[in-house]
Amino acid sequence: MNLPATTAGPIALSAPLPRRTRQARVAWGARVVTVGGDAPVRIQSMTNTDTVDAVGTAIQVKELAQAGSEMVRITVNTPEAAQAVPYVREQLDRMGVDVPLVGDFHYNGHRLLTEFPDCAQALSKYRINPGNVGKGDKRDRQFGQMVEAAVRWDKAVRIGVNWGSLDQELLASLMDANSRRAQPWDARQVMYEALITSAIDSARMAESMGLAGEQIILSCKVSGVQDLIAVYRELARRCDYALHLGLTEAGMGTKGTVASSAALAILLQEGIGDTIRVSLTPQPGEARTQEVVVASEILQALGLRTFVPSVTACPGCGRTTSTTFQELAKQIDDYLRAQMPVWRASYPGVEKMKVAVMGCIVNGPGESKHADIGISLPGTGEAPAAPVFIDGEKALTLRGERIAEEFQAIVQDYVARRFGGVAA
Ligand code: SF4
Repeated sequence: MNLPATTAGPIALSAPLPRRTRQARVAWGARVVTVGGDAPVRIQSMTNTDTVDAVGTAIQVKELAQAGSEMVRITVNTPEAAQAVPYVREQLDRMGVDVPLVGDFHYNGHRLLTEFPDCAQALSKYRINPGNVGKGDKRDRQFGQMVEAAVRWDKAVRIGVNWGSLDQELLASLMDANSRRAQPWDARQVMYEALITSAIDSARMAESMGLAGEQIILSCKVSGVQDLIAVYRELARRCDYALHLGLTEAGMGTKGTVASSAALAILLQEGIGDTIRVSLTPQPGEARTQEVVVASEILQALGLRTFVPSVTACPGCGRTTSTTFQELAKQIDDYLRAQMPVWRASYPGVEKMKVAVMGCIVNGPGESKHADIGISLPGTGEAPAAPVFIDGEKALTLRGERIAEEFQAIVQDYVARRFGGVAA
């Protein structure tokens, strides 16, 4: 075969740009989660239980951690919630769950962290919203009390600005200054400036109060995709603090998933973002862990991390008129995900496995050969046989009613042999 007539050289490979932030440590006991620098992009989530219900909260934290959340934030909004925090921690420790807890504080965090030292110690990180720490001359003092607690108990802090609770005094003063410009900025640009100024000025103030810059993580959350991209590009340009990334109030279902993926993917590809959260509103009956699943899928799709074996499945078409193909693809996907808590410990590297579940002969054998293990189902009108490919070679053919179960057994056997050193 003739080589293509090009003098342009090989097509450049695509990969996320490297990150360049300082590294923070979020720790509980022996468990240390590094954030920023050369650490992997971390996944965070937040409970939606009443923290006063310590058992219920601990159970949800455990579910989120098992789904892959590396830090879990809980609401600490009242003295009762602050009193419950050590019990949540205790429950988790008893269950063997060492995921660091992050306390989410607004309005009264200075009091709660001062009056409830057990709460302050049980948390691994404090989220401070500079827009909600107090007004006027109380603001700096109350902010200082929260920073003081972080210094005293050696905790990390996230200074989390949100456009829904932006420091109104700062915004007003920037609007005022803008009105005096010869060519005033767009109001949206002033809002961006206020978000970034609030975050960076607060971080510098925390440093001046004795908190190490390495223990500070910043976020500036907005709910519009283009707004988030604009704000984080500038935030990353102006500082080297570790950055927590998320589209706030992303919404429900497909909309929230797509908007979060669009915004986070662009920024992560540019090397911006050290931890992420996908702020999905759960649909009725939907598990809270869905936000962790989406976050891990974003990181895995970008090639930043691998969490679960990937399933390549074709969309199906007129050649797959029965539901057999969709059912098998879903069963295999659910099976792999359900096995991961056990497989992760027993079969290191299994998360990099690629599985193909294809609908017919057109692309089925080819795609299955590219995977570690794949199955090509019979399309409409084809002979009722499903060839299975292992490591690029056709290994056997399945027939009959129990193709799904038999294929799962073959996958389990392959995993044990390839990743566990167990003879097949
Ligand atoms: S592999 Fe077959 S069933 Fe799947 S989309 Fe392609 S042609 Fe359709």
